[in-house]
Amino acid sequence: MSIVVVGTIGYDTIETQTDKAVEALGGSATYFALAARFFGPVSLVAAVGTDFKPEHRELFTERNIDLRGLEYREGLTFRWHGRYHEDMNRRDTLNLALNVFADFSPKLLPDQSRADYLFLANISPELQTAVLDQMANPKVVAADTMNHWIENSRAQLIKMLRRIDILTLNDEEARMLSGEQNLVKAGRAILKMGPKTALVKRGEYGVLQFSEEGMFAVPAYPLEDVHDPTGAGDTFAGAFMGYVARGGKLSERVRRTAVVYGSVLASYVVERFSVQRILELGWDEIEGRYRAFLELTDSHHPRWTSP
Ligand code: AMP
Repeated sequence: MSIVVVGTIGYDTIETQTDKAVEALGGSATYFALAARFFGPVSLVAAVGTDFKPEHRELFTERNIDLRGLEYREGLTFRWHGRYHEDMNRRDTLNLALNVFADFSPKLLPDQSRADYLFLANISPELQTAVLDQMANPKVVAADTMNHWIENSRAQLIKMLRRIDILTLNDEEARMLSGEQNLVKAGRAILKMGPKTALVKRGEYGVLQFSEEGMFAVPAYPLEDVHDPTGAGDTFAGAFMGYVARGGKLSERVRRTAVVYGSVLASYVVERFSVQRILELGWDEIEGRYRAFLELTDSHHPRWTSP
């Protein structure tokens, strides 16, 4: 059964301290879909403008990502312009133009409404809610959010949280949403708001999962060169949900492995600008880094403990 993702497809202008990419393919649903597709079928719901390039459409369809839910609208495609600090965990949004997303109201196809797995990528909580209202009986619903919506659409966001299973957000957003400075308190407070699982993304420090089973933490895979952290969060979510859909249920065992696969895919995406690295990625590389990842944190690995 497919995973349905609703989020942005857009053109990003990204500045780091040393490089710049202008109007590169990006958007929350883009990264999610390109990661989730390694694990199973993905169906993408988004809007683009008349300036959306046909070769970018092909990047998705060539990888079997279902674009029946991609609506072409009169106007411009979503644009985002961000600049990273020297500390790449920090970035400023210099410009955000919702364009055709401003009054987009997605209408799911009948088979999308019946999907078991839904990811509400970073879009307004109003839009996320409108999509949730169209779902028949999903098994697992995950959502992402960001500081912009926590500040500007808080009431709607809080209502939405009661209806989802998993929330992904970064550490700063977890503090902002919960009002707690301490991340453990913040994670626990978020679980009380509705979701049974909270995945707090901490950039180069990794991910902290909160659930009824307690906490689970993984580091980010240490890399010598990080070129562009954009999309790491959505890529993480894509692989996480992909693995959960493959596992079929949200047990702690499935969740933990999903967190590691999410971290593996995210570690690849940041190696090059925009979606370049994830487009050329192969399953062997994913499995290779998965094993390297386990070894990185396993103090009892047989390689070192057997005589
Ligand atoms: P991430 O680095 O995982 O937070 O995701 C970055 C992607 O999110 C970029 O490709 C942007 O196009 C997209 N993005 C940035 N701001 C927003 C927003 N307010 N709503 C939806 N998508 C956004």
